[in-house]
Amino acid sequence: MKISKYPGTPLKEADIREKRVLTTFWRPKARYAWSAGVAITRFLEELKNGRLIGRKCSKCGRILVPPRMYCELCFKPTDEWVYVRDAGRVATYSISYLSADAKRLKEPIIVAVIDLDDTPPNVGILHKIGEVSKEDLPAWMRGEKFGVRVKAVWKPPEERVGSINDIKYWKPIEV
Ligand SMILES: [Zn+2]
Repeated sequence: MKISKYPGTPLKEADIREKRVLTTFWRPKARYAWSAGVAITRFLEELKNGRLIGRKCSKCGRILVPPRMYCELCFKPTDEWVYVRDAGRVATYSISYLSADAKRLKEPIIVAVIDLDDTPPNVGILHKIGEVSKEDLPAWMRGEKFGVRVKAVWKPPEERVGSINDIKYWKPIEV
């Protein structure tokens, strides 16, 4: 059965605006605490120190960056903290005319998955590529830059806050 008539007196917006009914104003003080967890907390702290750290699984030998406390291949906890070098190779990339918050960009950014030198393939981290000149951009656009070696460019220590953005971008290194 469909209800077509509700009992009681419905309130109109004007009833509240013109104070025909008792109202109260209350702004909730909502505060949130969010835990990044053991592995990512340490990862972020080390970023502030200008270092990359991962977790090693002794069974499969993989170093996981960003670190995880559990190896999903071996079904066991990872075993130790390992610092890794802030250099690697571009595994894949995309030229984007949209910023991270979906605003249109005049100058494109290069977003890449970087396979670090000390981690196995397919454990890449997602970041930006910088210091690519306008002359170099066509080669990137033609897809000629897969596998290019890159190195992290860090913010100065006083500007680091414990974020993945403590690395400004990764720049290609000539070899
Ligand atoms: Zn493992």
